[in-house]
Formats: sequence, C-alpha cells, structure tokens
Amino acid sequence: MLSEFDLIAQYFTRPVRETARVALGVGDDCALVSPAPGMQLAISSDMLVEGRHFFPDAEPRSLGHKCLAVNLSDLAAMGARPVAFTLALALPEARAEWLAPFSEGMLALADLHNCELVGGDTTKGPLNICITIFGEVPPGQALRRDAALRGDDIWISGSLGDARLALAGYRDELTLPQKTLADAAPRMHAPTPRVALGLALRGIACAAIDISDGLIGDLGHILARSRVGATLFADELPAGAALASQDRELRRRFALAGGDDYELCFTASAERRDEVLAAAQLSGTPVTRVGRIDDAAGLRLVDAAGAPLDLQLASFDHFASP
Ligand code: ADP
Ligand code: MG
Repeated sequence: MLSEFDLIAQYFTRPVRETARVALGVGDDCALVSPAPGMQLAISSDMLVEGRHFFPDAEPRSLGHKCLAVNLSDLAAMGARPVAFTLALALPEARAEWLAPFSEGMLALADLHNCELVGGDTTKGPLNICITIFGEVPPGQALRRDAALRGDDIWISGSLGDARLALAGYRDELTLPQKTLADAAPRMHAPTPRVALGLALRGIACAAIDISDGLIGDLGHILARSRVGATLFADELPAGAALASQDRELRRRFALAGGDDYELCFTASAERRDEVLAAAQLSGTPVTRVGRIDDAAGLRLVDAAGAPLDLQLASFDHFASP
C-alpha cells in the first residue's frame, strides 16, 4: 500500500513547465503563482462526489478528465485563461490501478490547457474529488452573468443533450440501441471545456455561463442576474449527434433541461453577429443562435413557427425533492 506522500509524489507531482505562470508547485506549504501583470484572477471550485456526480464504477481515466473539465468550463464561461489548479482528494484506498489512469486523464487535459497542478490535499475517505482552479482575465473583460442586455442574441456552443441521453440509457429510463448509447456516452464521460471560445469571445460577448444543470436553469441565472427576460427558439437548439435521432419531445426536453453539457450559453449584441461567428471559427467551436434577450421578465419558449410552447421543465437542483 502506498503512503500518502508516495502517492502524491508518484501521481500528482511533476516538474513545473517553463511556460507555466508558477514559481513553486507541489511540495511546500503553499504554491506560488505569478499571474501576468495587471490581470485579475478568476477562481472557481467544483466538487465531484461518488454516487452523486458519477457512478461508483466510473472509469478512472475519464473521471480524471471530467473533474478538471468541469472546472476549466467555469473559466471558459468567464473568458479566463487557465493558469493552475489544486486537487483535494478523499480516497477509500490507494490503488495504483485507479490512481495511475485517474492522474493521467486529469494531467493530459491539464497539459492541453497549460494549466498546472500546484497543490492539494489527500486523505482517506469515501471517494470525493474537489478541484479549485485559477485563471486570469484582463480587468473589465470577464464574461459575467449580470451583463446581458435587452436585444442581445442568445448563443449556444456545440450541441446539447447527449450527456443526458447517455444517463437515461445507463439508468434504464430509456431503452437505447447500443450504437446510440455508444455515440452519446463520450459527452457524459469526457466533456470538452470551451476554453478557446471563451477567450475568443472577450470583448464581443456580454454575458456567459456554462451549461452544467440544463440550459433553461443556467440561462435563468443570466436572466435573474441581468434583470431581463428571454425568448428561446426551442426548435433551433442544436441537439447532440445521438439525441438528434430521437423524437421531438425528447430532443426538446434533453436539450432544454438535460444538464452535464458543459457548453457555453452567451449573449452578444445583434450588431456583433459576424464577430461572434469569427470568434467561433477562430476557436474551432460551432455556435448556434437560439434566442434573444427581452425586456419582459421570464423565459418564453417558441416553436419553429414562433408559436408559444408550454413545457414544464425543471433544471437540476441537488436539494430539490424527491
Ligand atoms: P500540509 O499538511 O502542509 O497541508 P500536505 O502534507 O497535505 O501539506 O501536502 C504536501 C504537499 O503535497 C503540499 O504541497 C500539497 O499542496 C501537495 N498535495 C497534497 N495532496 C495533493 C494532491 N492530491 N495533488 C496535488 N498536490 C497535493
Ligand atoms: Mg494538507
């Protein structure tokens, strides 16, 4: 059995890369991080709990990827550039067969985004993974939830609903063909944080949020914080490749309120459509215009003909009953 310190040394300690803004990494009482002069730090934490956020038998490599991906997604939604992160880990046992792929999955994604693991905490206990991530953004350029303006377009990156479709398959809520489940599953296990798009949207988008609990609920946070309302074009929502072959009712439901998408929902002035599309192209991320910000409070859904839709959809809430 590995000791706590062997485990940290073996799986979570690497030489700090020269390109990183890190003066001191894992191994001291604190890490030392040097943000670029004049930048604001963007800071976010996300905790993933076994049985709550992932199945007990979750494959460790994709779990490592996903834990960091959901944190990177928060930086993306702020227009922040990743710098560093810490990892607080409770583990029932120190098994190399689990730790090796877990750290590889996590650190491969970290390398992709030049985001350095600089410290953390390790303890024995029920599996629980908490990451705190640090990014940098020029003052005044963060994509905040309270910045949507009346008349803005509402945009979505990528596609929605496949993670929820995979979950429905695993939970036997739906009987899915093997191929449909295989197509949808990567969206649940290995989400792609839209960091490059978030950076490209600095100075173009007004408000942004990442979609973790479902579009309706997450867009609702922008509306509440910006004190505006919105109309969503329910049939313009980009369904994931697997969800696209399902019936219209399911497509709407999972695209609007599925959750676990980690796409960006953002608003931008209608005058800046070309700039939004250029940012999407620059970052290699598809975007779709799916609605507009209105004066009137609340969220309205309309179909392809512009007729109002009355869909009873709730977004995910850990403390909602049942
Ligand atoms: P302290 O008791 O001073 O908080 P620890 O003994 O908990 O320090 O950790 C030793 C070093 O290893 C610290 O630099 C800490 O940040 C780092 N560390 C602990 N756990 C992890 C982890 N899971 N991933 C990365 N670094 C870790
Ligand atoms: Mg400690």
